[in-house]
Amino acid sequence: MSSNDTIFHKIMRREIPADIVYEDEHMIAFRDIAPQAPVHVLFVPKVDIATLDDLQPSQAGVVGRLAVAAADYARREGFAESGYRIVMNCNDDGGQTVFQIHLHLLAGAPLGHFGVAGRS
Ligand code: AMP
Repeated sequence: MSSNDTIFHKIMRREIPADIVYEDEHMIAFRDIAPQAPVHVLFVPKVDIATLDDLQPSQAGVVGRLAVAAADYARREGFAESGYRIVMNCNDDGGQTVFQIHLHLLAGAPLGHFGVAGRS
């Protein structure tokens, strides 16, 4: 389990500001402070889970709800048909820097294929 003092918990508690685009009883979504695409929104569950590796089978709905909310957001914002990418980074090699699970939604430009950093 994560501690509950990550930067995302502070955003949920309104202790630091964020550009919040969606919130319900299960999650909060806000714009990434260092966007990697024209649209870059983070969907963060309110239950404390540090990494995808800590997700229990009984918590499958936590991630499912994030994906559904991201897809809803894409439709509302009008880029569902043109397309988008969702990403979850896990631990160091996955590039995870905030240890409260979250789903990245990236959109607004052709994103190309993904690969391994350093390879062409
Ligand atoms: P990850 O590297 O997958 O753990 O993603 C963490 C993301 O959080 C990065 O894309 C950061 O740019 C983003 N981030 C860090 N601090 C903030 C913040 N205060 N507000 C919004 N996004 C943030």
